[in-house]
Amino acid sequence: MTEKVYEVAVNGGGVCGTALLYMLAEYTDIDDIILIEKYDALAKVNSNGRNNSQTLHCGDIETNYGLEKATKVKNAAVMVVNYTEALDTREHVIYKFQKVVIGVGQKECDQLRERLNNFKTVFTSLQLLEKEQVAEIEPNVVLINGEIRPEPCIALAVLDEYSAVDFNRLAEFFAQQAQTVDDKNIQIQLGSHVDKIEERDGVFSIETAQGAIKAKAAVSQ
Ligand SMILES: Cc1cc2nc3c(=O)[nH]c(=O)nc-3n(C[C@H](O)[C@H](O)[C@H](O)COP(=O)(O)OP(=O)(O)OC[C@H]3O[C@@H](n4cnc5c(N)ncnc54)[C@H](O)[C@@H]3O)c2cc1C
Repeated sequence: MTEKVYEVAVNGGGVCGTALLYMLAEYTDIDDIILIEKYDALAKVNSNGRNNSQTLHCGDIETNYGLEKATKVKNAAVMVVNYTEALDTREHVIYKFQKVVIGVGQKECDQLRERLNNFKTVFTSLQLLEKEQVAEIEPNVVLINGEIRPEPCIALAVLDEYSAVDFNRLAEFFAQQAQTVDDKNIQIQLGSHVDKIEERDGVFSIETAQGAIKAKAAVSQ
């Protein structure tokens, strides 16, 4: 009997592994893929809803990103938003929350005003809030004993966009949808720790507790 050799083995079923599985299943002609996950369910480590901050980073309020990086990050974030649009239960995967970056003191306020000027053509929803408006949204930052704090204080805000993601649910949808692509063999092997990967003559041998799996390509998360 000929030994089964998958085209691709994806090791690790977090949001990255399942996203790769979905991309390969849906958008390439690779039709024989296995995803191997050591736990009995997907996305139970970093991608678990309780293990990260669930922020959909899109570059606008991340003040450590310049415009070039922010634009790249935004393009990727938009793909996540667009992907969830077609889901019946989108409201369980992606959420709208207001997000703000607050500047306190003249230097930070100047930096935020400059950032808005540089970013507004790419991030059209980004808006500037003056101190009184910030007080309405984040009173604990601006009010001290009921009085507005004396220093200059402004915020850059996005008030009505998808900004939070349950990466665990997203991973589950990626996996589920990958498995429904017609005429493809998409396997998910849970409870299967990858112990060792060895390559010989262009074939990877992936040792797991449930036996060896062979694949022409192996990707580890
Ligand atoms: C505190 C914190 C907050 C964060 N906040 C954010 C945020 O707000 N926004 C954001 O975008 N990102 C955030 N991140 C980062 C984000 O959580 C990770 O980038 C993302 O979840 C990584 O996904 P992954 O699939 O690579 O890893 P994981 O989700 O960890 O998936 C890896 C998978 O591989 C499996 N695995 C590992 N070893 C083996 C093996 N030998 N055999 C088989 N399976 C194996 C694991 O069980 C796991 O399921 C945060 C991270 C942390 C820690």
